Amino acid sequence: MMNRKVVSACFTGIHCRYDQKHCLVKEIQQLVTRGEAIPICPEQLGGLSTPRNPAEIIGGNGEDVLDGKARVIDNQGNDVTKQFIHGAYEALAIAKTMDAKQAILKESSPSCGSHYIYDGTFQGKKQPGMGVTAALFRRHGIEVISENKIEIELDHPSHR
Ligand code: SF4
Repeated sequence: MMNRKVVSACFTGIHCRYDQKHCLVKEIQQLVTRGEAIPICPEQLGGLSTPRNPAEIIGGNGEDVLDGKARVIDNQGNDVTKQFIHGAYEALAIAKTMDAKQAILKESSPSCGSHYIYDGTFQGKKQPGMGVTAALFRRHGIEVISENKIEIELDHPSHR
């Protein structure tokens, strides 16, 4: 049976980033073209507009946000925690509907980051941690990998 995936929509050429740009990864886009993956953007699913202010997690990581111990704040000081959590659950609903077991998500995003997120200072500094959607997916048994892992696998196919 095909191992269906969800992928960050910005990888597929969709202009859903906060700055209305995308971050195309052709190998990931091709998964969607072949019907092996569905693109999702948790921040748009949470009701945020595009373009939107960049946001970072303040006081913790995505798990802390889900537990009510940290907030997501944009660079104008607006609290967008509710939208980030709502978008994460909407993305999870899509993943469950298609019985996805794996997600390829954009590293360092406050939603999609799986190993690193920005540290909440809006100074371009990263710290170890997951974004809100990545944390929710992992809690529900969905494997989350980053585009960096995909590039490693493509460079070293014998390691698959
Ligand atoms: Fe891409 Fe995820 Fe950010 Fe949407 S929320 S723009 S899918 S990194």
